[in-house]
Amino acid sequence: MTPEQQLYAIVEQGLCTGCGLCQAVAGKDKVQVVKTNTGFERPVVVGDLDQQTVDQIYDTCPGVRADGLPETLVEGDTKIDNVWGPWRRMVRAWATDPSVRHQGSTGGVMSALGTYLLKSKKVDFVLHVKASSTNPTFGEPHLSFSEADIMEGAGSRYGPTPPLLDIKSVLDRGQPFAFFAKPCDVTGLRSYARHDPRVDELVKYTVAMVCGGYGAPSTTEGFLERIGIQMSELTSFRYRGFGCPGPTKAETAEKTVEAHYLDYWGDDESMWGLPFRCKVCPDGIGENCDIAASDTWIGGSPNRIDSETDPGANGVIARTKAGEDLLSEAETDGYLTIERDITPDDMSIYQPHQMRKKYAVWARYQGLKEAGNLAPTTNRLRIEELAAELPDHVNDYQRTGTIERVKIGKSTEPTPQKAS
Ligand SMILES: Cc1cc2nc3c(=O)[nH]c(=O)nc-3n(C[C@H](O)[C@H](O)[C@H](O)COP(=O)(O)OP(=O)(O)OC[C@H]3O[C@@H](n4cnc5c(N)ncnc54)[C@H](O)[C@@H]3O)c2cc1C
Ligand code: SF4
Ligand code: SF4
Repeated sequence: MTPEQQLYAIVEQGLCTGCGLCQAVAGKDKVQVVKTNTGFERPVVVGDLDQQTVDQIYDTCPGVRADGLPETLVEGDTKIDNVWGPWRRMVRAWATDPSVRHQGSTGGVMSALGTYLLKSKKVDFVLHVKASSTNPTFGEPHLSFSEADIMEGAGSRYGPTPPLLDIKSVLDRGQPFAFFAKPCDVTGLRSYARHDPRVDELVKYTVAMVCGGYGAPSTTEGFLERIGIQMSELTSFRYRGFGCPGPTKAETAEKTVEAHYLDYWGDDESMWGLPFRCKVCPDGIGENCDIAASDTWIGGSPNRIDSETDPGANGVIARTKAGEDLLSEAETDGYLTIERDITPDDMSIYQPHQMRKKYAVWARYQGLKEAGNLAPTTNRLRIEELAAELPDHVNDYQRTGTIERVKIGKSTEPTPQKAS
């Protein structure tokens, strides 16, 4: 295979998350992560891609490689739960400022931590995302230097969002910063640290949301069709926030339509329109981060009645000493309200879909390999140990189901071409 074919294999076999890192690694003159013929943001080769660069992409791309927390960050008294990974403290919490709590996706913990990091001068800026200026259903990288900037990025973006697109120029600033993103984005950045020592020098904190997967563009298109709005008419689009989860809000020059979060995602997990890579994700729980923040709905989804008045509370996992200290300092300095300590069992009640996936992925990877496909390489994520806890027939079901999915093309994407 040529280097170009090797890069495209990641996309064609359904493993690209659209993080943007390969554009930064290869350079924009060789690879551009852009909206493609499938509606997803994917890498398109635009120049001569050599073998060394594609090898570096394979070593850093979170689509094909996912590692748990670096061993140097797992300090002596860190607890390790087989499902929930390394943790030092787990709490239910929310942003103390009621407007941050309200605007945030869940309880505003990530935005409150971002603001606290800036105000306490622990970092010069936060790299996270906000709604794209060209396509309001997508997200784009966003550097925040103030509370107002942070709040511009508040809320979950479920559409394609590449936070690592410009990571080299962010590092070129030479300033200490925090990175807030999805678990796979943080995995990509941690892997990139092996190739650029500035990552470990400058990235002072990593915070991720617990992530069940982003919405395929077809999910958003289907939703817009149901509410009678054309994608081309949109002037702004908010997936959630301003309540927990808050309304999904689509605006055009003529009208504003609000719907429930469940009208976007569907009433149960079987209806979630996720990209294939998210269905085989070995780490949607942010094992690589100082802090991971989640929803706390029992069973993983809101219900239509309670969500009218739910003020929002995050499940928060501090995995490193830096994360644990940040959590307690943000509480002491009045940015976070911690209701109570919780345990991995509570997290499994809030996130049963994460627990199920963590148990299933190892067998799914055996299916991918048997079908002749790439399977993500993982380290320190305990997925083989978890599969070993299951009866053989359950692993067989996951393995053969994956082979079947590959055969019928559910994991396949076409060779990416820039959308016209
Ligand atoms: C794709 C996706 C899937 C999710 N799946 C789950 C799940 O399975 N279980 C669960 O408990 N919670 C899930 N969430 C997380 C949940 O929606 C909240 O984001 C989380 O609880 C943090 O809430 P908050 O109020 O602290 O966030 P806020 O204070 O609103 O801050 C959110 C932060 O996340 C950043 N961000 C938003 N969207 C993206 C994105 N697409 N890529 C990178 N960074 C982004 C923003 O820039 C902002 O800094 C998901 C979120 C996303 C984006
Ligand atoms: S996951 Fe990221 S690094 Fe890997 S191919 Fe996709 S955009 Fe590139
Ligand atoms: S489910 Fe995994 S691969 Fe998909 S967006 Fe979330 S962290 Fe990334």
